[in-house]
Amino acid sequence: MALSEFELIRRYFSHCGAERADVLLGVGDDAALLDSAPGQDLVAAIDTLVEGVHFLPLAAAASIGHRALAVNLSDLAAMGARPAWALLAITLPCVDEPWLAAFAQGFGTLARAHGVALVGGNTTRGPLSVTVQILGHVPHAQALKRSGASAGDAVFSSGTSGDAAAGLALEAGRLELDDAAAAAQLRSRFSFPTPRNALGERLRDLASACIDVSDGLFADAAKLAAASGCGIEIAFDELAVSASLVRAVGMERARHLALTGGEDYELCFAVPPARIEELERALPPARWEYRRIGTLRAAPAALVTRGGNVMEFSHSGFDHFASQERAE
Ligand code: ADP
Ligand code: MG
Repeated sequence: MALSEFELIRRYFSHCGAERADVLLGVGDDAALLDSAPGQDLVAAIDTLVEGVHFLPLAAAASIGHRALAVNLSDLAAMGARPAWALLAITLPCVDEPWLAAFAQGFGTLARAHGVALVGGNTTRGPLSVTVQILGHVPHAQALKRSGASAGDAVFSSGTSGDAAAGLALEAGRLELDDAAAAAQLRSRFSFPTPRNALGERLRDLASACIDVSDGLFADAAKLAAASGCGIEIAFDELAVSASLVRAVGMERARHLALTGGEDYELCFAVPPARIEELERALPPARWEYRRIGTLRAAPAALVTRGGNVMEFSHSGFDHFASQERAE
């Protein structure tokens, strides 16, 4: 017998995330009642994932659940905010219980790891799409923004970049890799991205501006620069790439992908030169996994340099796989 909407929500979503004392009324009534914290600004973000656009038609349900929340957690990380509550609007083509169980497991595991309660949502029938709204807190007037940096500020990025684009290409069969461990690592960087919330919160007192990298490091760093009224110079040879990505595409293509591949959900942030020492003392780069990749400039252009020269490069990550296929 098909599950009723009521029973579906009760079974998979009414206890999916973390339990929080500030949820006065969660899933089950007409709306959630949330105890907002005094002295804090409320921070809100929302993102939709559509089948065939943001994930492949045969993507694992656990990955879709994880990513739908991760992309929102990442937006709060970029603001230096602490996530608290989420709402989930899901459109399902049919009631597939193993799919729902895996989706809820992917969503719920990440939600609990970040102390996020699922407080409400909406369930409808139609082509598969998932929208998550997230709410969180930041101490009053202390949120990080894309704006706020100045020419001369150093630009850093966390983790390694380009992995998710290669992971997606592997998933989609546009890239092949014999090294199974490296392939699994790249796939998991796409399917189960790690939003950098602990780093984002710590950067609140140190960074002059911050953005999370969803569209590719070059595009997103350029957005930060533009919002701050600056240009940017990125040093190609400073881009951090993983050993797995280098194994998959070689060092040269790896760094191109690091610039242009999206969906890594790392943080890109600016720090005034006078505060770099403090940054590196408070957050040792080896432990917090970030690296300086460039500098904000007064001239408005976004440039990539190599050995002091301005480099020409393709802005589309897909180009690399297309040209690799032609080369093979
Ligand atoms: P209404 O018709 O009043 O909007 P619904 O019947 O749609 O209420 O939803 C009942 C309750 O279940 C509400 O509290 C709603 O927030 C919650 N809910 C519905 N779908 C989801 C979902 N996918 N995840 C979490 N909560 C949900
Ligand atoms: Mg109602």
